[in-house]
Amino acid sequence: MKEQILGVNVNTENYDELIPKLFANIDTKKKSLVVAINPEKLMKAKDDPALKALLNRAEFQIPDGIGVIIASKLRKGNIESRVTGVDMMDRIVREAAKTGKSIFLYGAKPGVAEAAARKLTDTYPNLQVAGTLDGYEQDTQKVLNAINEAKPEILFVAMGSPKQELWIEQHRDNLYPTLYQGVGGSFDVLAG
Ligand code: UDP
Repeated sequence: MKEQILGVNVNTENYDELIPKLFANIDTKKKSLVVAINPEKLMKAKDDPALKALLNRAEFQIPDGIGVIIASKLRKGNIESRVTGVDMMDRIVREAAKTGKSIFLYGAKPGVAEAAARKLTDTYPNLQVAGTLDGYEQDTQKVLNAINEAKPEILFVAMGSPKQELWIEQHRDNLYPTLYQGVGGSFDVLAG
């Protein structure tokens, strides 16, 4: 289910309800993009129709940010609790480890994605990390090849918003993964 906050679609489900939907799409090879919606993005999108359309084209918009919950409550909506980008990533990774789906981490400064991957495999020993790549490689074809040769089901892109969402939308037709999430500064957070 979705509801509109300032003209932007936002999913009303919690983590437990979203995970089966995301993984069902992986199993049926339906590509999907998860974007995190916070008040900062809503304010930017208010005056930027292209950004608003980009956010609305994503298959999933998670309510990241207490302001989104408050806005929903004020309009008697159904969004009950926050679904943050970094926690959603953690839940996806946990489910990936459980179901044998592999992940790829693309973005952040050199070394950060590898460090984040190490933290994740410490936490989830069964996790398959298909590869990592920093977010400053200028040769797009090299990036696409690296991801496609690694064949991950899930791609996390950490290049800040909306750069990461634009990148995913531009390239996903030519990419192997089925599930995409733009995760902003999450690799930096994970890497510590
Ligand atoms: N970044 C990147 N490539 C770029 C620009 C930024 O990989 O061309 C990375 C940057 O190193 C940082 C992340 O993108 O790890 C941006 O994090 P930020 O917290 O600014 O994103 P937000 O969560 O605010 O969208």
